[in-house]
Amino acid sequence: MTSAAYAATSAEGVPNGGVSFWYRQIGAPAPRGPLPGDLDADVCIVGGGLTGLWTAYYLKQAQPDLDVVVLEREFCGYGASGRNGGWLSAEIAAPARTYLGAHGEAGVRDLHAQMRTAVDEVLRVLEHEGVDADVQRDGILHVARSRAQLDRLGALVDDERRWGAEVTRLTADETTARIAVSGALGGAHVAGAARVQPAKLVQGVAAAAERSGVRLFERTTVTSVRPGAAETDHGTVRARFVLRCLEGFSAGLPGQRRTWLPMNSAMVVTAPLPDAVRARIGWHGAELLGDLAHAYVYAQRTEDGRIAFGGRGIPYRYGSRTDVHGRTQPATVRALVRLLHEFFPAAAAVPVEHAWCGVLGVPRDWSPTVHVDRGTGLGWAGGYVGSGLTTTNLAGRTLRDLVLGSDTALTRLPWTGRQVRRWEPEPLRWLGVHALYALYREADRRETRGLARTSLLARAATRVAGR
Ligand SMILES: Cc1cc2nc3c(=O)[nH]c(=O)nc-3n(C[C@H](O)[C@H](O)[C@H](O)COP(=O)(O)OP(=O)(O)OC[C@H]3O[C@@H](n4cnc5c(N)ncnc54)[C@H](O)[C@@H]3O)c2cc1C
Repeated sequence: MTSAAYAATSAEGVPNGGVSFWYRQIGAPAPRGPLPGDLDADVCIVGGGLTGLWTAYYLKQAQPDLDVVVLEREFCGYGASGRNGGWLSAEIAAPARTYLGAHGEAGVRDLHAQMRTAVDEVLRVLEHEGVDADVQRDGILHVARSRAQLDRLGALVDDERRWGAEVTRLTADETTARIAVSGALGGAHVAGAARVQPAKLVQGVAAAAERSGVRLFERTTVTSVRPGAAETDHGTVRARFVLRCLEGFSAGLPGQRRTWLPMNSAMVVTAPLPDAVRARIGWHGAELLGDLAHAYVYAQRTEDGRIAFGGRGIPYRYGSRTDVHGRTQPATVRALVRLLHEFFPAAAAVPVEHAWCGVLGVPRDWSPTVHVDRGTGLGWAGGYVGSGLTTTNLAGRTLRDLVLGSDTALTRLPWTGRQVRRWEPEPLRWLGVHALYALYREADRRETRGLARTSLLARAATRVAGR
Protein backbone atom coordinates (compact mmCIF):
# COMPACT_ATOMS: atom_id res chain seq x y z
CA MET A 1 0.00 0.00 0.00
CA THR A 2 1.37 3.42 -0.89
CA SER A 3 0.25 6.82 0.24
CA ALA A 4 -0.53 7.47 -3.43
CA ALA A 5 -3.34 4.96 -3.08
CA TYR A 6 -5.11 7.49 -0.86
CA ALA A 7 -5.00 10.04 -3.64
CA ALA A 8 -7.57 8.02 -5.58
CA THR A 9 -10.80 9.98 -5.43
CA SER A 10 -14.33 9.19 -6.54
CA ALA A 11 -16.55 11.40 -8.65
CA GLU A 12 -17.61 13.20 -5.46
CA GLY A 13 -14.04 14.03 -4.54
CA VAL A 14 -14.04 11.67 -1.56
CA PRO A 15 -10.73 9.81 -1.12
CA ASN A 16 -11.60 6.24 -2.00
CA GLY A 17 -9.81 2.96 -1.31
CA GLY A 18 -6.22 2.79 -0.08
CA VAL A 19 -7.46 -0.34 1.72
CA SER A 20 -9.45 1.58 4.35
CA PHE A 21 -9.71 4.77 6.36
CA TRP A 22 -8.54 2.78 9.39
CA TYR A 23 -5.08 2.47 7.80
CA ARG A 24 -5.07 6.13 6.82
CA GLN A 25 -5.49 6.79 10.54
CA ILE A 26 -2.64 4.58 11.72
CA GLY A 27 -0.38 4.50 8.65
CA ALA A 28 0.66 1.52 6.56
CA PRO A 29 2.12 -1.31 8.65
CA ALA A 30 5.85 -2.03 8.34
CA PRO A 31 6.19 -4.74 5.67
CA ARG A 32 7.35 -8.27 6.51
CA GLY A 33 9.38 -10.29 4.08
CA PRO A 34 8.01 -12.90 1.67
CA LEU A 35 8.50 -16.66 1.98
CA PRO A 36 12.25 -17.17 1.39
CA GLY A 37 11.73 -20.44 -0.55
CA ASP A 38 10.57 -24.00 0.17
CA LEU A 39 10.19 -24.84 3.85
CA ASP A 40 8.65 -27.34 6.26
CA ALA A 41 6.29 -26.48 9.13
CA ASP A 42 3.77 -28.23 11.38
CA VAL A 43 0.85 -25.96 10.48
CA CYS A 44 0.58 -23.75 7.39
CA ILE A 45 -2.09 -21.05 7.54
CA VAL A 46 -3.21 -19.49 4.28
CA GLY A 47 -4.38 -15.88 4.77
CA GLY A 48 -3.23 -13.33 7.33
CA GLY A 49 -6.61 -11.96 8.40
CA LEU A 50 -8.04 -12.45 11.87
CA THR A 51 -9.06 -16.08 11.25
CA GLY A 52 -5.50 -17.03 10.33
CA LEU A 53 -3.84 -14.82 12.95
CA TRP A 54 -6.04 -15.93 15.87
CA THR A 55 -5.52 -19.58 14.88
CA ALA A 56 -1.75 -19.12 14.73
CA TYR A 57 -1.70 -17.19 18.02
CA TYR A 58 -3.69 -19.80 19.95
CA LEU A 59 -1.75 -22.73 18.49
CA LYS A 60 1.51 -21.21 19.71
CA GLN A 61 0.00 -20.36 23.11
CA ALA A 62 -1.16 -23.97 23.49
CA GLN A 63 1.98 -25.63 22.13
CA PRO A 64 4.99 -23.31 21.88
CA ASP A 65 7.19 -25.87 20.08
CA LEU A 66 4.75 -26.11 17.14
CA ASP A 67 6.13 -24.55 13.95
CA VAL A 68 3.31 -22.33 12.63
CA VAL A 69 3.61 -20.38 9.37
CA VAL A 70 1.16 -17.77 8.00
CA LEU A 71 1.20 -16.93 4.27
CA GLU A 72 -0.34 -13.59 3.29
CA ARG A 73 -0.65 -12.19 -0.24
CA GLU A 74 -0.44 -8.46 0.72
CA PHE A 75 0.07 -7.62 4.39
CA CYS A 76 -1.56 -9.08 7.50
CA GLY A 77 -4.90 -7.35 8.05
CA TYR A 78 -5.24 -6.28 4.41
CA GLY A 79 -8.67 -7.92 3.93
CA ALA A 80 -11.98 -7.50 5.74
CA SER A 81 -10.17 -7.70 9.08
CA GLY A 82 -8.63 -4.26 8.45
CA ARG A 83 -11.64 -2.69 6.75
CA ASN A 84 -14.71 -3.61 8.83
CA GLY A 85 -17.17 -1.57 10.85
CA GLY A 86 -15.54 -2.36 14.19
CA TRP A 87 -18.55 -4.14 15.66
CA LEU A 88 -16.98 -6.55 18.12
CA SER A 89 -20.27 -8.23 18.92
CA ALA A 90 -21.68 -11.65 19.78
CA GLU A 91 -23.75 -11.69 16.57
CA ILE A 92 -23.36 -14.78 14.47
CA ALA A 93 -24.85 -14.57 11.00
CA ALA A 94 -26.73 -17.83 10.76
CA PRO A 95 -30.45 -18.46 10.68
CA ALA A 96 -31.10 -20.58 13.83
CA ARG A 97 -32.62 -23.34 11.70
CA THR A 98 -29.20 -24.08 10.14
CA TYR A 99 -27.92 -25.56 13.38
CA LEU A 100 -31.19 -26.42 15.18
CA GLY A 101 -31.85 -29.55 13.13
CA ALA A 102 -28.74 -31.45 14.11
CA HIS A 103 -27.99 -29.82 17.48
CA GLY A 104 -31.31 -28.60 18.96
CA GLU A 105 -31.92 -25.60 21.20
CA ALA A 106 -29.06 -26.49 23.53
CA GLY A 107 -26.51 -26.54 20.70
CA VAL A 108 -27.57 -23.15 19.36
CA ARG A 109 -27.65 -21.71 22.87
CA ASP A 110 -24.09 -22.98 23.45
CA LEU A 111 -22.91 -21.35 20.23
CA HIS A 112 -24.39 -17.99 21.26
CA ALA A 113 -22.91 -18.30 24.76
CA GLN A 114 -19.50 -19.03 23.22
CA MET A 115 -19.85 -15.96 21.01
CA ARG A 116 -20.48 -13.77 24.06
CA THR A 117 -17.45 -15.35 25.75
CA ALA A 118 -15.43 -14.64 22.59
CA VAL A 119 -16.04 -10.88 22.96
CA ASP A 120 -14.62 -11.11 26.51
CA GLU A 121 -11.74 -13.21 25.22
CA VAL A 122 -10.77 -10.71 22.49
CA LEU A 123 -10.79 -7.90 25.04
CA ARG A 124 -8.76 -10.03 27.48
CA VAL A 125 -6.08 -10.72 24.85
CA LEU A 126 -5.93 -7.07 23.77
CA GLU A 127 -5.31 -6.06 27.36
CA HIS A 128 -2.86 -8.90 27.99
CA GLU A 129 -0.89 -8.09 24.82
CA GLY A 130 -0.99 -4.34 25.40
CA VAL A 131 -3.01 -3.56 22.25
CA ASP A 132 -4.89 -0.25 22.21
CA ALA A 133 -7.69 -0.64 19.65
CA ASP A 134 -9.94 2.26 20.76
CA VAL A 135 -12.18 -0.20 22.63
CA GLN A 136 -15.36 1.11 24.20
CA ARG A 137 -17.96 -1.40 25.34
CA ASP A 138 -21.37 0.27 25.12
CA GLY A 139 -23.36 -2.42 23.28
CA ILE A 140 -25.45 -2.16 20.12
CA LEU A 141 -28.37 0.17 19.46
CA HIS A 142 -30.72 -1.34 16.87
CA VAL A 143 -33.04 1.34 15.50
CA ALA A 144 -36.34 0.80 13.64
CA ARG A 145 -37.16 3.54 11.10
CA SER A 146 -40.42 2.18 9.69
CA ARG A 147 -43.40 0.25 11.05
CA ALA A 148 -42.23 -2.92 9.32
CA GLN A 149 -38.78 -2.50 10.89
CA LEU A 150 -40.49 -2.04 14.26
CA ASP A 151 -42.25 -5.34 13.68
CA ARG A 152 -38.92 -7.05 12.96
CA LEU A 153 -37.38 -5.35 16.00
CA GLY A 154 -39.84 -7.31 18.17
CA ALA A 155 -38.67 -10.55 16.57
CA LEU A 156 -35.02 -9.54 17.05
CA VAL A 157 -35.62 -8.88 20.77
CA ASP A 158 -37.37 -12.26 21.19
CA ASP A 159 -34.54 -14.03 19.36
CA GLU A 160 -31.78 -12.34 21.34
CA ARG A 161 -33.53 -13.26 24.62
CA ARG A 162 -34.11 -16.83 23.45
CA TRP A 163 -30.35 -17.28 22.96
CA GLY A 164 -29.41 -15.63 26.24
CA ALA A 165 -28.48 -12.03 25.36
CA GLU A 166 -29.19 -9.05 27.62
CA VAL A 167 -31.61 -6.85 25.64
CA THR A 168 -33.61 -3.74 26.53
CA ARG A 169 -36.50 -2.60 24.35
CA LEU A 170 -36.60 1.19 23.93
CA THR A 171 -39.34 3.64 22.97
CA ALA A 172 -38.75 6.18 20.19
CA ASP A 173 -37.87 8.83 22.78
CA GLU A 174 -35.50 6.54 24.66
CA THR A 175 -33.83 5.61 21.38
CA THR A 176 -33.31 9.17 20.18
CA ALA A 177 -32.12 10.19 23.65
CA ARG A 178 -29.17 7.87 23.03
CA ILE A 179 -28.63 8.65 19.33
CA ALA A 180 -30.88 11.09 17.48
CA VAL A 181 -31.52 9.01 14.36
CA SER A 182 -34.06 10.79 12.20
CA GLY A 183 -37.36 8.91 11.88
CA ALA A 184 -36.61 6.45 14.71
CA LEU A 185 -39.81 4.73 15.84
CA GLY A 186 -38.19 2.57 18.49
CA GLY A 187 -35.07 0.63 19.31
CA ALA A 188 -33.41 -2.12 21.26
CA HIS A 189 -30.15 -2.09 23.14
CA VAL A 190 -28.09 -5.29 23.24
CA ALA A 191 -25.41 -5.24 25.93
CA GLY A 192 -21.89 -6.65 25.65
CA ALA A 193 -20.62 -5.53 22.24
CA ALA A 194 -17.64 -3.20 21.90
CA ARG A 195 -16.59 -0.56 19.37
CA VAL A 196 -13.04 -1.09 18.06
CA GLN A 197 -10.71 0.45 15.48
CA PRO A 198 -10.29 -2.59 13.20
CA ALA A 199 -6.80 -1.89 11.82
CA LYS A 200 -5.42 -1.31 15.32
CA LEU A 201 -6.98 -4.59 16.45
CA VAL A 202 -5.70 -6.75 13.60
CA GLN A 203 -2.22 -5.20 13.64
CA GLY A 204 -2.10 -5.84 17.39
CA VAL A 205 -3.07 -9.49 16.92
CA ALA A 206 -0.48 -9.93 14.14
CA ALA A 207 2.25 -8.51 16.37
CA ALA A 208 1.14 -10.73 19.28
CA ALA A 209 1.21 -13.82 17.04
CA GLU A 210 4.69 -12.89 15.84
CA ARG A 211 5.91 -12.37 19.42
CA SER A 212 4.59 -15.87 20.22
CA GLY A 213 6.91 -17.26 17.56
CA VAL A 214 4.56 -17.55 14.57
CA ARG A 215 6.39 -16.98 11.26
CA LEU A 216 4.47 -14.43 9.16
CA PHE A 217 5.35 -14.19 5.46
CA GLU A 218 3.77 -11.34 3.50
CA ARG A 219 3.66 -10.51 -0.24
CA THR A 220 3.39 -14.27 -0.81
CA THR A 221 0.49 -15.51 -2.92
CA VAL A 222 -0.77 -19.03 -2.32
CA THR A 223 -1.65 -20.48 -5.69
CA SER A 224 -3.05 -23.84 -4.54
CA VAL A 225 -3.42 -26.04 -1.48
CA ARG A 226 -3.36 -29.83 -1.27
CA PRO A 227 -2.96 -32.33 1.55
CA GLY A 228 0.46 -31.70 3.08
CA ALA A 229 1.40 -28.57 1.11
CA ALA A 230 0.59 -25.02 0.04
CA GLU A 231 2.12 -23.86 -3.26
CA THR A 232 3.04 -20.18 -3.51
CA ASP A 233 4.74 -17.83 -5.96
CA HIS A 234 7.80 -18.01 -3.67
CA GLY A 235 8.04 -21.74 -3.04
CA THR A 236 6.22 -24.61 -1.33
CA VAL A 237 5.37 -24.94 2.35
CA ARG A 238 5.04 -28.58 3.40
CA ALA A 239 3.00 -29.10 6.57
CA ARG A 240 0.90 -31.77 8.28
CA PHE A 241 -1.98 -29.26 8.48
CA VAL A 242 -2.86 -26.68 5.82
CA LEU A 243 -5.64 -24.30 6.86
CA ARG A 244 -7.51 -22.12 4.39
CA CYS A 245 -8.39 -18.80 6.11
CA LEU A 246 -9.25 -16.61 3.12
CA GLU A 247 -12.96 -15.80 3.71
CA GLY A 248 -14.11 -13.48 0.89
CA PHE A 249 -10.92 -14.21 -1.08
CA SER A 250 -11.42 -18.00 -1.07
CA ALA A 251 -12.81 -17.92 -4.60
CA GLY A 252 -9.32 -17.03 -5.88
CA LEU A 253 -7.97 -20.51 -5.10
CA PRO A 254 -8.40 -23.31 -7.66
CA GLY A 255 -11.51 -25.37 -6.90
CA GLN A 256 -13.00 -22.79 -4.50
CA ARG A 257 -14.79 -20.42 -6.91
CA ARG A 258 -18.26 -21.53 -5.83
CA THR A 259 -17.56 -22.26 -2.14
CA TRP A 260 -18.11 -18.84 -0.54
CA LEU A 261 -19.48 -15.94 -2.53
CA PRO A 262 -17.41 -12.75 -2.11
CA MET A 263 -20.00 -10.19 -0.99
CA ASN A 264 -19.11 -6.50 -0.94
CA SER A 265 -19.64 -4.18 1.93
CA ALA A 266 -18.69 -0.51 1.79
CA MET A 267 -18.15 2.30 4.26
CA VAL A 268 -17.82 6.07 4.42
CA VAL A 269 -16.49 8.16 7.28
CA THR A 270 -17.13 11.80 8.14
CA ALA A 271 -14.73 14.35 9.53
CA PRO A 272 -14.88 14.67 13.33
CA LEU A 273 -18.30 16.16 14.12
CA PRO A 274 -18.20 19.81 15.25
CA ASP A 275 -19.64 20.38 18.73
CA ALA A 276 -22.83 21.95 17.38
CA VAL A 277 -23.57 18.83 15.30
CA ARG A 278 -22.68 16.51 18.19
CA ALA A 279 -25.10 18.45 20.37
CA ARG A 280 -27.93 17.67 17.93
CA ILE A 281 -27.04 14.01 17.37
CA GLY A 282 -26.16 13.04 20.93
CA TRP A 283 -24.30 9.70 20.73
CA HIS A 284 -22.38 10.46 23.91
CA GLY A 285 -21.55 6.77 24.35
CA ALA A 286 -19.95 4.56 21.72
CA GLU A 287 -22.94 2.34 20.98
CA LEU A 288 -22.69 0.50 17.68
CA LEU A 289 -25.62 1.55 15.56
CA GLY A 290 -27.66 -0.47 13.07
CA ASP A 291 -31.11 -0.43 11.50
CA LEU A 292 -33.45 -3.25 10.52
CA ALA A 293 -33.68 -2.57 6.79
CA HIS A 294 -33.25 -5.59 4.51
CA ALA A 295 -30.24 -3.81 2.98
CA TYR A 296 -29.21 -2.79 6.48
CA VAL A 297 -26.67 -0.20 7.59
CA TYR A 298 -24.14 -0.39 10.41
CA ALA A 299 -22.26 2.46 12.03
CA GLN A 300 -19.91 3.44 14.80
CA ARG A 301 -18.80 6.66 16.41
CA THR A 302 -15.03 6.65 16.23
CA GLU A 303 -12.73 7.51 19.11
CA ASP A 304 -12.09 10.93 17.54
CA GLY A 305 -15.79 11.72 17.07
CA ARG A 306 -16.47 10.78 13.43
CA ILE A 307 -19.36 8.71 12.11
CA ALA A 308 -18.24 5.61 10.19
CA PHE A 309 -21.24 4.36 8.25
CA GLY A 310 -21.49 1.16 6.21
CA GLY A 311 -23.86 -0.78 3.99
CA ARG A 312 -24.02 -3.31 1.20
CA GLY A 313 -23.63 -1.06 -1.90
CA ILE A 314 -23.24 -3.10 -5.08
CA PRO A 315 -23.37 -6.52 -3.46
CA TYR A 316 -21.43 -8.77 -5.80
CA ARG A 317 -19.09 -8.59 -8.81
CA TYR A 318 -19.49 -10.97 -11.72
CA GLY A 319 -17.37 -14.12 -11.56
CA SER A 320 -16.64 -13.72 -7.81
CA ARG A 321 -14.17 -10.88 -8.44
CA THR A 322 -12.98 -8.81 -5.49
CA ASP A 323 -12.21 -5.08 -5.23
CA VAL A 324 -8.91 -3.31 -5.90
CA HIS A 325 -7.29 -2.11 -2.66
CA GLY A 326 -10.64 -1.20 -1.13
CA ARG A 327 -11.77 1.14 -3.91
CA THR A 328 -15.56 1.22 -4.15
CA GLN A 329 -17.94 2.42 -6.86
CA PRO A 330 -18.98 6.13 -6.95
CA ALA A 331 -22.66 5.03 -6.98
CA THR A 332 -22.11 3.21 -3.70
CA VAL A 333 -20.44 6.26 -2.16
CA ARG A 334 -23.36 8.44 -3.27
CA ALA A 335 -25.93 5.98 -1.86
CA LEU A 336 -24.15 5.68 1.49
CA VAL A 337 -23.73 9.43 1.88
CA ARG A 338 -27.42 9.96 1.04
CA LEU A 339 -28.41 7.42 3.68
CA LEU A 340 -26.01 8.90 6.23
CA HIS A 341 -27.69 12.28 5.75
CA GLU A 342 -31.16 10.71 6.02
CA PHE A 343 -30.14 9.22 9.36
CA PHE A 344 -28.41 12.39 10.53
CA PRO A 345 -29.61 15.54 8.73
CA ALA A 346 -27.44 17.54 11.15
CA ALA A 347 -24.34 15.90 9.63
CA ALA A 348 -25.15 17.04 6.07
CA ALA A 349 -22.64 19.89 6.26
CA VAL A 350 -19.86 17.73 7.70
CA PRO A 351 -17.42 16.58 5.00
CA VAL A 352 -17.15 12.88 4.17
CA GLU A 353 -13.44 12.16 4.35
CA HIS A 354 -13.03 8.64 3.02
CA ALA A 355 -14.83 5.73 1.34
CA TRP A 356 -13.72 2.12 0.99
CA CYS A 357 -15.04 -1.41 0.66
CA GLY A 358 -14.11 -5.01 1.29
CA VAL A 359 -15.32 -8.53 0.73
CA LEU A 360 -16.83 -11.00 3.13
CA GLY A 361 -17.55 -14.68 2.51
CA VAL A 362 -21.11 -15.97 2.08
CA PRO A 363 -21.79 -19.72 2.03
CA ARG A 364 -24.81 -21.07 0.15
CA ASP A 365 -26.71 -21.56 3.44
CA TRP A 366 -25.56 -18.15 4.80
CA SER A 367 -24.01 -19.81 7.87
CA PRO A 368 -20.35 -20.12 8.91
CA THR A 369 -18.34 -23.32 9.21
CA VAL A 370 -15.15 -24.53 10.93
CA HIS A 371 -13.61 -27.78 9.80
CA VAL A 372 -10.41 -29.82 9.94
CA ASP A 373 -10.15 -33.15 8.16
CA ARG A 374 -7.58 -34.99 10.26
CA GLY A 375 -7.10 -37.52 7.47
CA THR A 376 -5.92 -35.07 4.83
CA GLY A 377 -4.82 -32.36 7.26
CA LEU A 378 -6.83 -29.77 5.30
CA GLY A 379 -8.99 -27.34 7.23
CA TRP A 380 -10.81 -24.03 6.95
CA ALA A 381 -13.01 -21.53 8.77
CA GLY A 382 -15.15 -18.71 7.47
CA GLY A 383 -18.37 -17.82 5.72
CA TYR A 384 -19.19 -15.34 8.47
CA VAL A 385 -21.53 -13.25 6.24
CA GLY A 386 -20.50 -9.90 7.69
CA SER A 387 -20.39 -10.92 11.35
CA GLY A 388 -16.81 -12.08 11.51
CA LEU A 389 -14.94 -9.79 13.83
CA THR A 390 -15.64 -11.81 16.98
CA THR A 391 -16.40 -15.03 15.13
CA THR A 392 -12.81 -15.22 13.85
CA ASN A 393 -11.66 -15.52 17.46
CA LEU A 394 -14.02 -18.41 18.20
CA ALA A 395 -13.01 -19.98 14.88
CA GLY A 396 -9.32 -19.60 15.72
CA ARG A 397 -9.67 -21.34 19.06
CA THR A 398 -11.82 -24.07 17.48
CA LEU A 399 -9.26 -24.66 14.70
CA ARG A 400 -6.57 -24.89 17.39
CA ASP A 401 -8.50 -27.64 19.20
CA LEU A 402 -9.24 -29.51 15.96
CA VAL A 403 -5.59 -29.38 14.86
CA LEU A 404 -4.39 -30.54 18.27
CA GLY A 405 -6.97 -33.36 18.20
CA SER A 406 -8.64 -32.23 21.43
CA ASP A 407 -12.30 -32.99 22.08
CA THR A 408 -13.56 -29.76 23.67
CA ALA A 409 -16.74 -27.74 24.13
CA LEU A 410 -15.62 -25.75 21.07
CA THR A 411 -15.12 -28.72 18.73
CA ARG A 412 -18.64 -29.88 19.59
CA LEU A 413 -20.33 -26.59 18.61
CA PRO A 414 -22.96 -26.84 15.85
CA TRP A 415 -20.89 -25.02 13.22
CA THR A 416 -18.00 -27.54 13.23
CA GLY A 417 -17.55 -30.07 10.44
CA ARG A 418 -20.55 -29.10 8.30
CA GLN A 419 -20.79 -29.78 4.59
CA VAL A 420 -22.43 -26.91 2.70
CA ARG A 421 -23.52 -27.09 -0.93
CA ARG A 422 -21.81 -24.85 -3.47
CA TRP A 423 -23.13 -21.72 -5.15
CA GLU A 424 -24.66 -21.92 -8.62
CA PRO A 425 -22.34 -21.32 -11.62
CA GLU A 426 -22.38 -17.95 -13.45
CA PRO A 427 -24.45 -16.21 -14.69
CA LEU A 428 -26.93 -17.67 -12.16
CA ARG A 429 -24.83 -16.57 -9.19
CA TRP A 430 -24.66 -12.95 -10.36
CA LEU A 431 -28.32 -12.85 -11.39
CA GLY A 432 -29.46 -14.43 -8.12
CA VAL A 433 -27.54 -12.09 -5.80
CA HIS A 434 -28.44 -8.97 -7.77
CA ALA A 435 -32.12 -9.99 -7.89
CA LEU A 436 -32.06 -10.64 -4.13
CA TYR A 437 -30.71 -7.18 -3.36
CA ALA A 438 -32.95 -5.47 -5.91
CA LEU A 439 -35.93 -7.08 -4.16
CA TYR A 440 -34.58 -6.09 -0.74
CA ARG A 441 -34.13 -2.49 -1.84
CA GLU A 442 -37.64 -2.38 -3.31
CA ALA A 443 -39.01 -3.93 -0.10
CA ASP A 444 -37.17 -1.26 1.93
CA ARG A 445 -38.69 1.47 -0.27
CA ARG A 446 -42.21 0.09 0.21
CA GLU A 447 -41.71 -0.28 3.95
CA THR A 448 -40.44 3.30 4.19
CA ARG A 449 -43.58 4.45 2.40
CA GLY A 450 -45.71 2.92 5.17
CA LEU A 451 -46.11 -0.87 4.92
CA ALA A 452 -46.83 -2.10 8.45
CA ARG A 453 -45.38 -5.58 8.01
CA THR A 454 -42.32 -7.01 6.32
CA SER A 455 -42.85 -6.75 2.57
CA LEU A 456 -43.85 -9.99 0.86
CA LEU A 457 -41.12 -9.23 -1.69
CA ALA A 458 -38.47 -9.49 1.01
CA ARG A 459 -40.00 -12.65 2.49
CA ALA A 460 -40.04 -14.30 -0.94
CA ALA A 461 -36.49 -13.17 -1.72
CA THR A 462 -35.20 -14.52 1.58
CA ARG A 463 -36.90 -17.88 1.02
CA VAL A 464 -35.60 -18.23 -2.55
CA ALA A 465 -32.08 -17.25 -1.47
CA GLY A 466 -32.13 -19.98 1.20
CA ARG A 467 -31.32 -17.48 3.98
C1 LIG B 1 -16.69 -3.33 4.95
C2 LIG B 1 -16.85 -4.46 5.93
C3 LIG B 1 -17.44 -4.22 7.17
C4 LIG B 1 -17.56 -5.26 8.10
N1 LIG B 1 -18.02 -4.96 9.36
C5 LIG B 1 -18.02 -5.92 10.31
C6 LIG B 1 -18.32 -5.60 11.65
O1 LIG B 1 -18.50 -4.43 12.00
N2 LIG B 1 -18.38 -6.61 12.56
C7 LIG B 1 -18.15 -7.90 12.21
O2 LIG B 1 -18.29 -8.79 13.05
N3 LIG B 1 -17.76 -8.24 10.94
C8 LIG B 1 -17.67 -7.27 10.00
N4 LIG B 1 -17.25 -7.57 8.75
C9 LIG B 1 -16.80 -8.95 8.48
C10 LIG B 1 -15.41 -9.24 9.08
O3 LIG B 1 -14.55 -8.15 8.87
C11 LIG B 1 -14.83 -10.49 8.43
O4 LIG B 1 -15.76 -11.54 8.56
C12 LIG B 1 -13.53 -10.94 9.04
O5 LIG B 1 -12.62 -9.88 9.16
C13 LIG B 1 -12.93 -12.08 8.22
O6 LIG B 1 -11.61 -12.31 8.62
P1 LIG B 1 -10.75 -13.38 7.81
O7 LIG B 1 -9.43 -13.43 8.44
O8 LIG B 1 -11.52 -14.65 7.75
O9 LIG B 1 -10.67 -12.80 6.33
P2 LIG B 1 -9.84 -11.52 5.79
O10 LIG B 1 -9.65 -10.51 6.83
O11 LIG B 1 -10.49 -11.11 4.52
O12 LIG B 1 -8.40 -12.14 5.50
C14 LIG B 1 -8.10 -12.93 4.39
C15 LIG B 1 -6.65 -12.63 4.01
O13 LIG B 1 -6.23 -13.52 2.98
C16 LIG B 1 -5.34 -12.81 2.12
N5 LIG B 1 -5.30 -13.52 0.84
C17 LIG B 1 -6.21 -13.50 -0.16
N6 LIG B 1 -5.85 -14.32 -1.15
C18 LIG B 1 -4.68 -14.88 -0.79
C19 LIG B 1 -3.80 -15.82 -1.39
N7 LIG B 1 -4.07 -16.37 -2.58
N8 LIG B 1 -2.66 -16.18 -0.74
C20 LIG B 1 -2.37 -15.64 0.49
N9 LIG B 1 -3.19 -14.75 1.10
C21 LIG B 1 -4.32 -14.38 0.48
C22 LIG B 1 -5.95 -11.42 2.04
O14 LIG B 1 -5.00 -10.46 1.62
C23 LIG B 1 -6.44 -11.22 3.47
O15 LIG B 1 -5.48 -10.55 4.27
C24 LIG B 1 -17.13 -6.57 7.77
C25 LIG B 1 -16.56 -6.83 6.52
C26 LIG B 1 -16.41 -5.79 5.61
C27 LIG B 1 -15.77 -6.07 4.27
